[in-house]
Amino acid sequence: MVEIKTSGELDAMREAGRVVGRALDAMKAAVAPGVRLTELNEIAVTILAESKATSAFLRYKPDFAPTPFPAVICASVNDVIVHGIPDRYRVREGDLLTIDFGAYLDGWAGDAAFSTLVGEAASGRDQRLIEVAWEAMEAALKMAVPGNRLGDIEHAIGQVGRAAGYGIPDGFGGHGIGRHMHEPPFVHNEGRPRRGMVLRPGLTLALEPMFLSGGSDHYYTDGDGWALRSSDGTRAVHIEHTIAITDDGPRILTLP
Ligand code: MG
Repeated sequence: MVEIKTSGELDAMREAGRVVGRALDAMKAAVAPGVRLTELNEIAVTILAESKATSAFLRYKPDFAPTPFPAVICASVNDVIVHGIPDRYRVREGDLLTIDFGAYLDGWAGDAAFSTLVGEAASGRDQRLIEVAWEAMEAALKMAVPGNRLGDIEHAIGQVGRAAGYGIPDGFGGHGIGRHMHEPPFVHNEGRPRRGMVLRPGLTLALEPMFLSGGSDHYYTDGDGWALRSSDGTRAVHIEHTIAITDDGPRILTLP
């Protein structure tokens, strides 16, 4: 069931989202050549403790996963699209790193992600990949108004990615969010306009464009049972915000 939130509940979700936004900013500031993925995870652990929030990822076990998730962030490098387990790998100049982070505060969830390039030697192609993901987010936000339908958001994301020649992994995307990190509805990253549920004020969604730079939609699951990798080995981008549909337009809940 899709739960519609009151304005007071949206304010509570904003506080959960603020913890997520602050943690992501702190991790982004710490990204540099030589930093271990586990060190970024520790930054998020510290911010959770300071904020009296709890991880939405740690020990999470969806049906597809063989084991509970062992960390508080997903750290996905280069060809890993989503769900990378942070290990002791030290990021290198030119790596494309995605950090995804979710938290609960006072019973409400927030979920967001960014992709970034490590160091100064970024390729224009990789920069463009990240830019296009944000253009897809902007296009989705333009559609995220009462009276539009879920398919308008999905179509907007997919249009931007396809126009740039990128692949879109089917079966992974955004979701409803509230008291639980993952709630209905599922939000595809591609869809048909004027289809799907009508967007109402108080509906909260995690929007998460993810694109594959090689143009193929194909991916496979890594041997760890979690990380999703592009089949052609090309790089992936994944960004995310938790947003609310309101009469005043979309409200982004996961800013710092
Ligand atoms: Mg999410």
